[in-house]
Amino acid sequence: MELLLEELRGIPRDAPSLSEALELRKAGWHLVVAYCRISHDRHRRDGHGVEDQARHCARIAARHRMIVIHRYVDNDKSASKIGVRRPEFDSMVAALTAGKTTAGYPIDGVVCVSDDRLYRDVHTFQIFLRCFTAHPARVYADGLGTYDLYSEDAAQRCLLGAAAARAESTKQQHRAKLNHRARAERGEPVASRRTFGWNADMVTLNHGESEVVRSGVQSLLAGKTLTAVTHDFVASGYTTTLGNSWQRQTVKQLLRNPRICGYRKLHGLLIRDTDGKPVVGQWRSIVSPEEWHAVSQMLDKQRHPGGWAKNGPTPLDSGYLLTGLVRCGRPLENGRRCGAPMLGKPAKASYVYCCRPALDGGCGRVSRQGPAVDELIVQKVLGMLCGPAGESVLLVRPTLSWPGTHHLDIATRRKAALQEQWYAEEISDHEYFSQLKIEETSIKRLMTEQQMWALNRRSDTHEPVDTYARWDALSRSEQRELLSGLLESVMILPGTKGSHRFDPATVVPVWHATVRPSR
Ligand SMILES: [Zn+2]
Repeated sequence: MELLLEELRGIPRDAPSLSEALELRKAGWHLVVAYCRISHDRHRRDGHGVEDQARHCARIAARHRMIVIHRYVDNDKSASKIGVRRPEFDSMVAALTAGKTTAGYPIDGVVCVSDDRLYRDVHTFQIFLRCFTAHPARVYADGLGTYDLYSEDAAQRCLLGAAAARAESTKQQHRAKLNHRARAERGEPVASRRTFGWNADMVTLNHGESEVVRSGVQSLLAGKTLTAVTHDFVASGYTTTLGNSWQRQTVKQLLRNPRICGYRKLHGLLIRDTDGKPVVGQWRSIVSPEEWHAVSQMLDKQRHPGGWAKNGPTPLDSGYLLTGLVRCGRPLENGRRCGAPMLGKPAKASYVYCCRPALDGGCGRVSRQGPAVDELIVQKVLGMLCGPAGESVLLVRPTLSWPGTHHLDIATRRKAALQEQWYAEEISDHEYFSQLKIEETSIKRLMTEQQMWALNRRSDTHEPVDTYARWDALSRSEQRELLSGLLESVMILPGTKGSHRFDPATVVPVWHATVRPSR
């Protein structure tokens, strides 16, 4: 421990030489000292904490055109029994008074992660402030930004002794975030649940599972399809770490996860060190970074509709008129309906909607003539929209858009991003489901607002309107937008065995709760 602290103290390894520093100073850079402190009440791994503090100080400095030319590191832990003494703090204030460090660097300011590291009582703050302001035009920065210590306010704080002038809660949140990022930068596993391929310690490999992952990557690189590789995962006899059977989506998420080559992502970006190289984790890797890059690029390219959301239509999927809305209504053995979004597929001279294969979350057992379903639904929708409300929907929507569109977009995208994170096991189940509930509630509220807005808008013209002509004049995406504003889904029930005739009774529109079709 003391060894580590000794290493951190003094001139940082990557600091410029004195002559270089003086050149940089002429060019407008501030030469600053960093102050770090391990407090005695931290948990036992504060040894890492102080490394993090040092690293974070460098980041804060860089943000404000400052260069750390000396680090002072105190360890309250070792001194706790004989009263708190801080020899490094004393050295720092001495250097501040002298105007330069023992190595001769002029001191233009101080940086630390937060001011409660710097002083804990009025007395030390008074000493610090006096020595700091002994020279003019110095700069001070911490995680919350820069702060003018020559100001009236600073003196005021000194008198009041209130180091808590800045909101404590902000600081605490900031510290928690810093800790998470710091762990990632050190390459420590931060997932709350183990990833498939590793043992419960999240570091050592599970031999059987990691072999499945490795051969999955190699198969993809050898030209096998994702579907075939998913079959291999299923055939291996292993389930996901949650005990679910493998689907294309889960296999894809796993193989795109940089963890398999030792890298890590946070908020969608690879964690990199100060040189821009990806940080290599402490866990064993399954494939090489090159293999992971190749596979994740390959998988990114083929964005399959496998990424459908369980609720609501997929907004980006532009296929047939009802893609995203049609759901399979086949009853399963457990009494519930299949419910999988059906895929539109070309067939003979036209197209069909059919349930997705079991590997993709469906039952694969229902399909229906596309044009007949589309026509029936359009008829029902336009029939419902006939009358003043309907006319206004068709009149208004293409020209004037609902003012909340932007918010709905954001909420929808947030939900999708959340799902991605959860699949990549970057957030815990608890976080995911509590956050998901919030997002879904706001999406639902916005969609209701949108429909009410559309239905309440009255047309200014009193001319009779041909709704069918209006419908035909809309673009495909406008038609789809309108349909998804009114319909929750269109349930396709299984047909009569042996009969190929289209039965309208097997196509059931499910309206949004706020839409009441007149009968
Ligand atoms: Zn189905």
